Amino acid sequence: MKITVLGSCAAWPEPGRACAGFLVEHAGFRLVLDLGFATLPRLLALCPNGAVDAVVITHEHSDHCVDLNGLLRVRHYGERTFDPIPLLCPPGVAELVDRLEPSPRLAELFEVRELPGTHKVGPFEVVGVELPHYVQNVGVRVTTARHRTIAYTGDTGPSPALADLGRRADLYIMDATLQRQPDGPRNVLSAAEAGHWATEAEARRLLLTHFWPGNDRGVSLRQAAEHYSGELLAADEGMVIDLS
Ligand SMILES: [Zn+2]
Repeated sequence: MKITVLGSCAAWPEPGRACAGFLVEHAGFRLVLDLGFATLPRLLALCPNGAVDAVVITHEHSDHCVDLNGLLRVRHYGERTFDPIPLLCPPGVAELVDRLEPSPRLAELFEVRELPGTHKVGPFEVVGVELPHYVQNVGVRVTTARHRTIAYTGDTGPSPALADLGRRADLYIMDATLQRQPDGPRNVLSAAEAGHWATEAEARRLLLTHFWPGNDRGVSLRQAAEHYSGELLAADEGMVIDLS
């Protein structure tokens, strides 16, 4: 299983970067996790014409889903024709992207399946787990038949569910928006909290992502390292992680 970081920014993309997005490849199958601002050109550089096999979107915030509209367009208006592919997402995502323009409809290009839930997608089993956020957010565990597992939080506040989502995952991709823990209700994680929950999950590697624009990522890494002793990485556009 190979993971390529398409984007690592929270909220809006810094110059030269993109918002949330990952390409997961295994046995010739190409699964996209999230398609935030500016991820589509990076995806097209790896998968010309938008030739991917499935898409998973964690939630309806634009920094995670807006380039799904771009993928819809390239698969509809581009030079290749495609059969519909699975699109796994909470219902709000499909409603939002379909409101952007009257046609084409998502259902013309995608076989829309609802998260949370458990879905077989190509060589993967995808299990969705609802996590606390401002809108419905579904973290996912993606497992191959050879029991390689990645887990991805999307955006989340602190929750015991994070220990189950990332349980002994080969790679745990975690929201690390903040560099301090503010008071009050929480809907995103700090880097320190990502480290804490990766330890609770006994995850084998931790990939921090969703950095607030302007944050010094070295600081985020050091904060997470105070709570997690395994292999620790900061997402960076174009980074490739090979789990085979
Ligand atoms: Zn969000």
